[in-house]
Order: sequence, then structure tokens, then C-alpha cells
Amino acid sequence: MAIVRFKALEEVMNREPRPLVNNGELASSIYKSLVFDREKMQKYLSQEAFLAVIEAIEKGTAVDRKMADQVAQGMKAWALENGATHYTHWFHPLTDGTAEKHDAFVEYTGTGGIIEAFSGKMLVQQEPDASSFPSGGIRQTFEARGYTAWDTSSPAFISETTLSIPTIFISYTGEALDYKTPLLRSIRAIDEAATGVAKYFDKEVKSVRANLGWEQEYFLVDEALFLARPDLVLSGRTLMGHSSSKDQQLEDHYFSSIPTRVNRFMIELEYEAYKLGVPVKTRHNEVAPNQFELAPIYEEMNLANDHNQVIMDLMKKIARRHKFRVLFHEKPFAGINGSGKHNNWSLQTDTGVNLYSPGKNPKSNLQFLTFIVNTLAAVYEYQDLLRASIYNVANQHRLGANEAPPSIISVFLGTEVSGMLDLMEAAVVDRKMTPAEKTELKLNIGRIPEIILDTTDRNRTSPFAFTGNRFEFRAVGSSANCASPMIVLNGVVASQLVKFKAEVDALIEAGVKKDEAIFQILKKLIIASKPIRFNGNGYSPEWTEEAARRGLSNVNNVPEALSAWMRPENVKMFSELDILSEKELHGRVEVEYEKFIKKVQIESRVLGDLAINHIVPVSVRYMTTLLENVKYLKDVFSNSEYEELSAGRIALIKEISHHNSTIKSLVNEMTEARKRANVIGEAKEKARAYNDTVLPYLQKIRYHIDKLELVVDNEIWPLPKYRELLFVR
Ligand code: ADP
Ligand code: MG
Repeated sequence: MAIVRFKALEEVMNREPRPLVNNGELASSIYKSLVFDREKMQKYLSQEAFLAVIEAIEKGTAVDRKMADQVAQGMKAWALENGATHYTHWFHPLTDGTAEKHDAFVEYTGTGGIIEAFSGKMLVQQEPDASSFPSGGIRQTFEARGYTAWDTSSPAFISETTLSIPTIFISYTGEALDYKTPLLRSIRAIDEAATGVAKYFDKEVKSVRANLGWEQEYFLVDEALFLARPDLVLSGRTLMGHSSSKDQQLEDHYFSSIPTRVNRFMIELEYEAYKLGVPVKTRHNEVAPNQFELAPIYEEMNLANDHNQVIMDLMKKIARRHKFRVLFHEKPFAGINGSGKHNNWSLQTDTGVNLYSPGKNPKSNLQFLTFIVNTLAAVYEYQDLLRASIYNVANQHRLGANEAPPSIISVFLGTEVSGMLDLMEAAVVDRKMTPAEKTELKLNIGRIPEIILDTTDRNRTSPFAFTGNRFEFRAVGSSANCASPMIVLNGVVASQLVKFKAEVDALIEAGVKKDEAIFQILKKLIIASKPIRFNGNGYSPEWTEEAARRGLSNVNNVPEALSAWMRPENVKMFSELDILSEKELHGRVEVEYEKFIKKVQIESRVLGDLAINHIVPVSVRYMTTLLENVKYLKDVFSNSEYEELSAGRIALIKEISHHNSTIKSLVNEMTEARKRANVIGEAKEKARAYNDTVLPYLQKIRYHIDKLELVVDNEIWPLPKYRELLFVR
């Protein structure tokens, strides 16, 4: 059995590094070479078709069939020249990852041969037989044929030999079955709402764009060791494993020199990413051993999210070429840091102003504060919804584990902005201000420094932090589709901005001057949302107590966190903004409960199997060796000598035997708990049962296995240990 482990290590030792792939090419020379971007459109499309697509991109209009045919011809010509043989509608179903079904370009010529063909019809819409994707019951089997439709706002790209066309995925009755559809709707909602408010400050503003810059954390594990760990293979995390004597205590991995094999993986990854138009920028070692981070330059949100999915897919493929496996699980190893995906979010006007950047004068700073305060108010009011958007069973292990922001949503603003809000709170704005008071307030507002990045970016413990020119949602899990938190964030801020505008307009209507009306409503919001502001250490136990005193919610399990989606006020908010209907929301939540149940079920089965057929037999074998040893001692030594010599061994035998029998009975109990949970019909109740009665066994069983790992002969232990998984690179 030991052989499994040593063979795996031997294989690692014999690895040749994969040669570098980029041949010294500049990123700028290969950037977007596999993307059908505007430049290529101009080259491959007629002027008429080109303008039709640009209009569709910019105004969200549809491309008519005749134009679509022309676009398809151009796209096909470009794709064939670049080695594509197939095309696919590429979409984001509600599973982890993306979906694609490749079709070759070939069609019969009618005279016995075949020809490469692609039409507007194939470009615009498809009906994949997608009845196996989760829909939470929206798509009953009789109407199982959901369809995909071209998203003109995200350009087609070539992945290996397949032309990939980003699409939305909807049911026949028009309900969203994916992440992209509501994301696009939420981008439109925040555009409209933010434009309305930005017009108070600049009438020229016609639209507002949501930006997203994600930072992706991940682990790399050697492939041979990975394959020798069925728990990693099947559930994405280690369900057992004693901590390594040394892991991240010395903080010697963070930002240290990148191991050569890892660096070569990164170089190849970045090379491929540039060709696909992903503007990757930053790479570094993270806190935990074998943990790394990758971040691009931020982009328009829909594109940024497509790019995040593209990158995750690329990482999986390229890691294997380097004999690594990449782990996106939020908590693959107990006792050391897990992985997140920080979502840097900002709003930008078509006039080029970042609404979260302080400006040069009181007017632009008032605009800045208006957006800050409304965001604060939205996060306060919808804290449960924001949590729901990032909560899943894997992230549950990470959140609050002393390394990641806790499950309490709070906002870090930094001293400068906090001080400004305090001033605005103290100002008398409820009656008509005297000219002197007004001048003073404006002067104060004018004093916000233009660049406050340095003073704001220090607190790493906040789940939602203002970082100088953007908000950073840090509680997002590493495996997440960014769309889920971004749909909610866009939605709640849009909803708050709409309310804000209505209130300000009402005051203006009643004769209050515009900036005074704005001051009055902002002051009200600053006071009301005060509990959500927290600049201190979000990891400290005192914060949990303080947050409870402030009435902030703190939820630590998936079923409860998910229940926020369906609260009446949230359902109303989503449907008023046309982001998600009640039916769509319901379907989504059902899918989330199902995912939770299935993941816990898989983990529980895997752990049960490994415990019974890997761990217990090996422990018994070692115990037998010890028993034989004791028997020999008895044969050789006198009674008194025997008693002295065998005492320790007998204690160890008893200890192993105790762990073994406890493991066996816990596994039986866990199986019974699963059986009871499985007969529950309603998804939410079933999820509760899994959370309360199955999940706790994973920890209990692991405890005994990890104890055994410490005492059983290393030579026969059947699984690679943490010290190997984390330090072989
Ligand atoms: P840190 O690790 O300190 O948070 P990084 O510089 O590694 O910061 O990553 C910050 C991320 O934020 C990058 O993806 C960057 O492009 C993005 N970002 C920077 N400015 C903005 C902005 N105005 N809006 C959205 N994202 C931004
Ligand atoms: Mg960050």
C-alpha cells in the first residue's frame, strides 16, 4: 500500500520541466489574436454588417437575420484561417464552470462532398439538448429544450480548434437558466439607475458602465499525488489529513520567489490568456504553501466575468500539461488559508469618470460621496442577500476561519472617507442652510484628497472594503462564478440609487435646492446605515460580539444563508428591476439547495469509503504487527521485563483499536443520517437535514483518522500527507 505513495513521489522526482512556450513574443503582439474583436470585424465584415454589430453591442439591439448571415460568413472565414474546425455556443449554466457542445462546420454540398458552412441562424440561436442542466424545476422535461442566444457584447474567440460564441441560456418560456442572462440584466439596471443620479452632477452623462477586476486564488498540487488522493479527485478538497508540522506559520511563502515549475505553468497560462484577450497582469505566491494568485486588469463586467471563466478553464488544462492539478475549492486543506476571488467593483460614466474616485472639486466630490453613501446603504439593507450570493458549502469552511472575512457583512471605508461621512452627519442640513454653513460643508468636501488609495488599502479583514477607487467584495469564493455576487451588488445598488433619486426629486419638487436635497438624503442614509461601517479587525472575536450588538446578521450555514434569496423584499427588488422574476429566483435557489445536498452527500460517501477501505484496514495491519511484536516479547523476556517493555505498545494497540472502532460506528451513523435525509422531498428541508445531521460527521470522523495518521507506520499509510501535497512543487 505504501507503494502508492512512494510511486507517486518517485514519479514527481523524475519530472522534466516543460519547456517555455512563449519564444520571447511580446504580450502586445499576441493580444486578442484569437478573438474576433472590432479590428477583425472591420476586416472580415462588410461595412453594413460591421455597423449592425457595433450598434447591437452599444445599444443592446438585435442583429437581423440578413446581417447575422453576413456576420457568420466573416466569422467563419476568420475562424477557418485560424485553425478552427468546430463552433460552439459557450454559456454559463448554473453548475460550476461553463458549457459547450461542439459542432463541426461541415455540411453536405448536395453533390456527394462536404463543405465548411456557418450561417446567421447557427450564430444567433441554438437548441442544445440541454435537459440535464439544473434549472430548479423551471424547465420541466416536456419543455426541456432551452435555447442559447448570441451575446453580441462579448466577442467570439477560438479555444483550441473551436470557435466559441458567448451566449445566454434561456428556457422556451423565456426564463434565465444561466448566470449571464441576469448578469446582463443587472448591468443594464445599474446603468440606468446610476446614470439617473450621475446626471445631477453632469447632464452630459448618458450611460454608466460596471467594471469588474477579479483576483483569482488557487492551489497547485502535483498530479501524481493528487491522483493518489481520492478525496481531492472526487470532492476537490482533502477530507482528512493531519496538519504538516510546518505549513504557513513562518509566512515564508507569501510573495516569495515563485517555484520554477509553477512559474513555467504561469508563463504558458498567460501566453494563452493574452491570445484570448484576457489582460492578465499580476501573479504571486499566496499565504498558504502551494497557493497562488492571478489578477488581470479590470474590464467591463460581462467581459471580465467571461474572462474569469475562460481563465479557470485554461488553468485546468494548462496545469495538466505541467503535471499539476489546480484546486479552485475554497478550503482544500484544513488548518491553512483557503482561496477566495476578490471582486473589485466600480462604476464609470461614458464621460470617463470613475464614480468611486474622489474628484478635484466639491461638486465631483459630492458625486463621489453620493455613490459611496448609497452603496453603503444598499449593503446595509441587503446584507443577507450579499451573503447569500457568495455562500456555498465550500466557502462555508473558509468564511470566518480566521483567514477570511467572517460571515458578517460589514463595510470598510478607511479613515478619510469615514471622517467625511461623520462631518456630513454632523452638518445641519435639515433646514435651509445658511450660506456660511453651506460654504463650510462644501469646503470640507473639497478637501478629500484626490488619491486615497494608500490609506484605504490596509485592512485585509473586511468582506467589503473601499479601496480608494473601487469596492472590493472579498468574501467571494475562489470557485464562484462572479456573476452571482455581481448580480446582487449591481441590483441592490441600483435599487438604492432609484430610491435615492426619487427622494431627492421629491424634495426638489417641493422647492429645496438640488445640492441641499442631496445633502439631506445623504445625511439620512449615513445615519441609517451606520451599523454596517467597520474599520477594525474583522477576524477578531470582539467583532462578532460588537456586530451582534449592532444588530448585523451572522449566519454560518448554507441553508439559512440561502433563505435570504426568497424574502419578499428581495423578490420584489429583483422583479422591479427586471433582473430576476420570482419564478427564476425560485429555480435558482432550488438549484443551490440541490448543489449543497449533493456536495455534502458526495463528501460523506467518499469519506465513508476511504475510512472503511483505506484507513481502517491499514491501521488494523499495523495493529497486527504490534500484536505480533508483543507476542515475541513475551516469548523472549521474563515476565517483569515483558511487562515493562510491552506497556507502551499495548497502550498504542488500544488507542488504534479505539480509533478504528469509533470510525466504524461513526461511518455507520453517518450513513443512517444520509438515509434519513434522502427521503425528505422538499429541497430546503433536505438541505437542513444534511447540514445538521450529516455534515458534522465529516469533522468527527476526520478527527480519528488524523490521530491515526500520527501513529500508524508512515511506510504503510495509504494516502499522500499534507507535508507532501503542500510542499512538492
Ligand atoms: P490587491 O491585491 O492589493 O487587492 P491588485 O492590484 O492585485 O490589488 O488587484 C486589484 C484588482 O482590482 C485588479 O484586478 C485591478 O485591475 C482591479 N481594479 C483596479 N482599479 C479598479 C477599478 N476602478 N474598478 C474595478 N477594478 C479595479
Ligand atoms: Mg484585492
